Amino acid sequence: MKTVAYQKCINPRCGATFDVGQTLTGCSQCGDLLDIDYNWSNTAVPKSLREFQNRWQNRRFPLDFSGVWRFRDLLPFAADAMICTIGEGQTFLQNAVCLGNHIGMWPGQLWLQYEGMNPSGSFKDNGMTAAFTHARLVGARRVACASTGNTSASLALYASSNGFQGIVFIGSGKIAFGKLSQALDYGARTLQIDGDFDTCLMRVREVAKQLGLYLMNSVNPFRLEGQKSIMYRILESLSWESPDWIIVPGGNLGNCSAFGKAFSELKTLGLIKRIPRLAVINAEGANTLHQLYTAGLRWNAGVIDDARIGAYYAEMDGKGIHPYTVASAIEIGRPVNLKKALRALDVMDGVTCEVTDHEILEAKALIGRFGLGCEPASAATIAGLQRLLKSQIISRSERVACVLTGHGLKDPDATVYYHTGINTKLARTPAAEETWGLRANKPLRVADDLAAIVAAIGADDFDSAAVGGYVPTAADLPFVEY
Ligand SMILES: *Cc1c(COP(=O)(O)O)cnc(C)c1O
Ligand SMILES: [Zn+2]
Repeated sequence: MKTVAYQKCINPRCGATFDVGQTLTGCSQCGDLLDIDYNWSNTAVPKSLREFQNRWQNRRFPLDFSGVWRFRDLLPFAADAMICTIGEGQTFLQNAVCLGNHIGMWPGQLWLQYEGMNPSGSFKDNGMTAAFTHARLVGARRVACASTGNTSASLALYASSNGFQGIVFIGSGKIAFGKLSQALDYGARTLQIDGDFDTCLMRVREVAKQLGLYLMNSVNPFRLEGQKSIMYRILESLSWESPDWIIVPGGNLGNCSAFGKAFSELKTLGLIKRIPRLAVINAEGANTLHQLYTAGLRWNAGVIDDARIGAYYAEMDGKGIHPYTVASAIEIGRPVNLKKALRALDVMDGVTCEVTDHEILEAKALIGRFGLGCEPASAATIAGLQRLLKSQIISRSERVACVLTGHGLKDPDATVYYHTGINTKLARTPAAEETWGLRANKPLRVADDLAAIVAAIGADDFDSAAVGGYVPTAADLPFVEY
C-alpha cells in the first residue's frame, strides 16, 4: 500500500520523516517541530471544495456531522474506524454588521468565526478530536497536557467520552473557573503545579516521557491537523471565497500555524485561488512573537535564527519576566509553535500586533454589547483589528474574519470585574484609569419595593443607537450560494 501520511521535521536542513504510527513530540534527529505531511497523489482529494457540501446531506453519519471530519480528505492520516469524534466544529461565521459599523468597517465586511460553540466551549476541540484519533491509533491509554485552561477542558471531555484517562497540569491560581470546573467535572486527574504555564509544559513533557503518557499539547502535530478545519469552515461560509484577512489571538501559536498550513495545502492542491493575510494578536504582557517579529525574525525558508530566540528567552529569564495578562488563554512567554507561526506569517503575508489588557476588555465588552460572548483572549482579535485599522495596515473596505476562540462563559470573572469595577486581577495604569470600563453596565442595587424598582427601571428612553442604531433583519443576511 502506498503511504499517504507521514510525520516530517519542519527544518528543511533536516527533513527527517517518521511513520504516523510513531508517538513523537519532536524530531528525533534534530529536536525541531514535526508536521503531518501527505503524499497527495496517493489519496483521493475532491477536485473542488464544493464537493464537501454534499456531506451535509449525510449528517446522521458521525464523520459527516463533525465540522472537522467532514473535511477528512484534507487530513487523511487515520482510517475512519479510528476516528474519535463527539460532534465538534458545529460553529458559525457571523456577519457582525453592527460591531463592524461601530469600529468603522465598511458594511458587511466584518465576520466573527464563533468557536465557542464547540462541545467544550473553545476551538481546542477541533484539535483534540484529531490528536485523540492518533492516540487511539497508537494504542495509548493515558493522555496528558499542560494548560492555561481550555486544553485541559477539551482533553478531559475527549478522554471521558472516548475511554482514555485524562491527566492535566495547570499553573497555580491562573486558570479561569469555567475551565477548571470542566476538567474536574469530566473526571481528569488535575494537578495544580506551582508555576506558570511555561513551567507546567516543561514538567508535563518530562513526566509524559517517564510514564509513557500520550502528550496532548500543541507540540503534538496531529492537533494542528484538526485545527485546519476552522479555515475550511470560514471558506465554506463565504461560498469558498477567501476573505482578505484572518485575525487570531496568539498564545502557544498552534492555531495560527494550523491556519497557515491549511491555506498553503489548499493552494498547492489548486483548491483556492488566493491565500488571505494573517494577523496574529498578542497581549502586551505576553508578546514574544510580536517582539521577535518586529525585530525582524523571519521564517527565512526554514533557516531560522535560533540564537536570536535563545537570547530573547535568556534575557526574559535574566530579568525575571513572566507573562502577565487578563487573557489567561494567551498568557504564554515561550510559545512552542513559534517557528511554525513564522512559517504561517510567511505563507499568509502576515503581521503581528500587541494589545493592552485594557483594550482587550473594552473590545470584549463591545463584542458582548453587539450580541456575542467570548472570553478575553478571543477579544484580542477585535482589539487588534482596531489597532490595525488605525495604522492603516487593514483597510476599512477589506473583508475580515476574526476567530473568537472561546466562549464567554469560560471566564465570567473577567466580565463581572469589568462591569462592576471589582477587580483584583488587573494592573491599572493611570492612563487606563481615565477610560476605565467605558461600557461598564453595573447592576443597580434596589430595595425590595415596587416604587423603587419602577423608578430604577426609569422611563422608556431606549436608544437603539446604543446597539448600532440599526436592527438587522433577515434581508441583511448575506445570501450564501451553495
Ligand atoms: C488556546 C487558546 C488560545 C491560543 O491559541 P494558540 O493556538 O495557543 O495560539 C486563544 N484563545 C483561546 C480561548 C484559547 O483557548
Ligand atoms: Zn529534524
